[in-house]
Amino acid sequence: MKITRRDFVKTGAVLSGGLIANQVSPSKIFSGQNSGSPLIAVSTWGDTIKSGEKAYEYLNEGKNSLDALEAGIWIAENDPDNNSVGYGGLPDEDGIVTLDASVMDWNGNAGSVAALEGIKNPISVAKLVMQKTKHVMLAGDGAKKFALENGFKEENLLTEKSRKAWENWKRKNPHNPNRVDEHNHDTIGMLAIDKFNNLSGGVSTSGMGWKIHGRVGDSPVIGAAMFVDNEIGGAVATGNGEFVMRTVGSFLIVEKMRDGLTPQEACEFAIKRIYKKAKLDKDIQIGYLAINKKGEIGAYSLYDGFTYAVATSIPGSVIKSDFLLK
Ligand code: ASP
Repeated sequence: MKITRRDFVKTGAVLSGGLIANQVSPSKIFSGQNSGSPLIAVSTWGDTIKSGEKAYEYLNEGKNSLDALEAGIWIAENDPDNNSVGYGGLPDEDGIVTLDASVMDWNGNAGSVAALEGIKNPISVAKLVMQKTKHVMLAGDGAKKFALENGFKEENLLTEKSRKAWENWKRKNPHNPNRVDEHNHDTIGMLAIDKFNNLSGGVSTSGMGWKIHGRVGDSPVIGAAMFVDNEIGGAVATGNGEFVMRTVGSFLIVEKMRDGLTPQEACEFAIKRIYKKAKLDKDIQIGYLAINKKGEIGAYSLYDGFTYAVATSIPGSVIKSDFLLK
């Protein structure tokens, strides 16, 4: 069964505080591994488990963490049934699919794309921005031009299903354009550690369904939806990007880990910071996922329903995050 965020919202009660698939406790995740680097890929939302497993396959073949997470994130980006990432992602209020993504490697290099149109794999464009340019972020038409010049193909990212969903929304909201639906967005955020003990992070999303054309979320903003420091660890975010940006959540988590907090404590700190500082509608969900260089994992969200996938030498697990507002 494909586990989605919405399935969790429906079935959340049975899944309290623990594992959903492959009954492996997080503390046992590394027991089967050789000492040294904890080869691992963790990703936001349980339904990204296939992405994590692909990334792990790469890590196990000796590939680096950046290439591994790129390969993993492609699975989500190429999946027409994933309506919040890449191909099949929900469009903005004008019916246009615009994508945000970023990557960061173990040397502290970073690349991102914002509001990219017509290119299925923004994670790879972000990687190329990092590797081929002196810049960190390319946006809109410039990002697309750069992608096309570098061999990416232009494609229609609107599927029949996402076009119908948009038409349906448009019919119901003809005079209320700036009304995003809190249930129509998610991000794949992935952190991976390779055999060289190098950590990379990457995120990709189509952002909020029905957003204002040109809206950019937290995903391409380095330090907001994703931040990695190879000495310490990394963090990724999903949920309402405006709140994540205002508190630079992923950077905050890495800095709290630098101060000695565990990944779990650091994620809880960042969620509590949002709760303290922001005026939250009850519908607003934010989830953080973090890992340190020992391979210890933390996750925390505002509300019930956030899950994450862990792919390592034992079969991948889907784990339910703890949350603040019980
Ligand atoms: N953070 C993404 C954005 O605001 C959406 C999500 O992860 O739910 O664009």
